[in-house]
Amino acid sequence: MAVIRDVMPAFEFFQPSSVADAQKLLEQHGPDAWVLAGGLDSFDWLKDRIKKPKAVVDLSGIKELKGVRATSDGIEIGAMTTLTEVVRNPIIREKYNLLAEGAELAASPQIRNQGTLGGNVSQDARYWYYRAGWPCYRAGGNICYADTPTGRNREHAILHAERCVAVNPSDSAPALIALDAKFVMRTPKGERVLDAEEYFIGPQIDITRMNILRPGDLLTAIRIPSTWAGAQFYFEKVRDRNVWDFPLMNVASAMMLSGERIEGIRIAVNGAAARPLRLKAVEDAVRGKARSAATGEMAGKLAVKGAIPLQFNTYKIPLMRNLVKRAISGVEEATWGS
Ligand SMILES: Cc1cc2nc3c(=O)[nH]c(=O)nc-3n(C[C@H](O)[C@H](O)[C@H](O)COP(=O)(O)OP(=O)(O)OC[C@H]3O[C@@H](n4cnc5c(N)ncnc54)[C@H](O)[C@@H]3O)c2cc1C
Ligand code: SF4
Repeated sequence: MAVIRDVMPAFEFFQPSSVADAQKLLEQHGPDAWVLAGGLDSFDWLKDRIKKPKAVVDLSGIKELKGVRATSDGIEIGAMTTLTEVVRNPIIREKYNLLAEGAELAASPQIRNQGTLGGNVSQDARYWYYRAGWPCYRAGGNICYADTPTGRNREHAILHAERCVAVNPSDSAPALIALDAKFVMRTPKGERVLDAEEYFIGPQIDITRMNILRPGDLLTAIRIPSTWAGAQFYFEKVRDRNVWDFPLMNVASAMMLSGERIEGIRIAVNGAAARPLRLKAVEDAVRGKARSAATGEMAGKLAVKGAIPLQFNTYKIPLMRNLVKRAISGVEEATWGS
């Protein structure tokens, strides 16, 4: 069980000033090392003594990991750029506002001032059993406490669950998938650039990780190509309280229109599965169709095909159907529970 203490446990603390030095430290300490970004997810794990790294590698002194740069084909955002900087950046606001909208709805202003984009997409599942140190599947055990008749699973997955029914909590992740972002990683074998949706993994690949990072790996930057710059964007997040709160579900879409016809589209949701989901079948079904209530209706029904609710989260099926419907039709409604 979690024992919350006011002081940090003892570990070796490193503050490298370059990516190369950070990599050396991570390689040296292997699975005993912990990468520290803004600390908003990390500090809980460490202070609760649920994760017990021997070495913590703080990235906050590495200048090359910070800031937003224009590239020949879009922008590159350093992994240590704070969510506040992302929200305020003029190029992001002008051309890729979908990301600014998602990032601005994450947490509170104080958390956004400290939390980084790299940390936001790499954060772990937020659920009580796991975070309180219960030995569930995700913690390496052989049971899921949430997926039981009386387990607390109101916030959990309706799609692609396999033993673990936790969902990914990031608000920026679906926006990055919709913008066709590329994630740049440094691994012991060299640089790797991945499509955003490939960065996130589900329990069928590794039940103990939410993303592809392995010991020794660093996320260094996120690149957004100009392909969807200035497209029609839609971001909506539903949460229990209209102040800082994790998403029950969110949707992000980028759309190119020719008149009222949908020429091109990318759409993703988070909060439905262990990883943010790109809705490829929906994209294929609506391409070439009119942006209308009828197309939105069809898309919403398609999006929830195969959804299986748990004991306490049946509401997520109409929620997802209506979020997708609104993202496609572009019409905001006051209620989503029909
Ligand atoms: C009270 C509260 C409410 C929140 N609400 C929301 C919300 O509504 N929506 C939302 O999206 N988020 C929310 N968050 C998350 C928050 O936005 C932070 O983005 C998130 O916790 C992690 O960012 P961080 O920079 O603090 O990373 P850290 O906590 O330091 O790191 C998070 C994880 O990522 C790893 N990591 C970080 N950066 C790298 C890197 N460059 N390379 C490799 N690994 C890395 C760390 O090892 C760690 O495992 C909330 C957090 C709190 C505490
Ligand atoms: S949903 Fe996942 S994280 Fe939560 S108790 Fe089940 S296995 Fe653990």
